[in-house]
Amino acid sequence: MASYVLPFAESTIPKGGEFGNKAAPRTNAHRGVDFSVAGGTVIKSISDGKVVKNTWSTVLGWVVVVEDTKGIFWGYCHMREASKLILGTKVYAGKSVIGRVGNTGSASRGAHLHLTCGSGIEAVFSGWVQDPIACAKRLNAKEKPVAKVVEKPAVEAEAEEAKPVAAKSVPTNLKKKVK
Ligand SMILES: [Zn+2]
Repeated sequence: MASYVLPFAESTIPKGGEFGNKAAPRTNAHRGVDFSVAGGTVIKSISDGKVVKNTWSTVLGWVVVVEDTKGIFWGYCHMREASKLILGTKVYAGKSVIGRVGNTGSASRGAHLHLTCGSGIEAVFSGWVQDPIACAKRLNAKEKPVAKVVEKPAVEAEAEEAKPVAAKSVPTNLKKKVK
């Protein structure tokens, strides 16, 4: 079983880009983690799995959802253009290209990858999600992927994405979780 591999270093998560962040201009808790990297940068899969959704979302832009081998769903959002991956394509952690970083969708305020994970395809768009970084670390440690969760109440109340800015340092709350 391959390990989970973060698509980008945690040091690229800007202040305010953490999971659950509620700082303005957000109107709801942040439903994923933002990696602030240059537009066009290749995004590699965090997990082994298969592509189960490749779509356009008004709010999240170009999105791909991968179901991993444990039945957890990972959403890659705001990509520059539609991914070339067709449904059912197998992907491998740290190896397979999902797409490229972009700034698509009404919730995006600059080039970044919004990564989220949940218990179903639709969770990427609405419903319960959990911290993708904490989830990946627990899975790598062979622990259950139970985590703090954030529920989006309604499509109309989609969380605002704070404008990503370069991170000066890794947020303290994430540092503590680094093994
Ligand atoms: Zn985000």
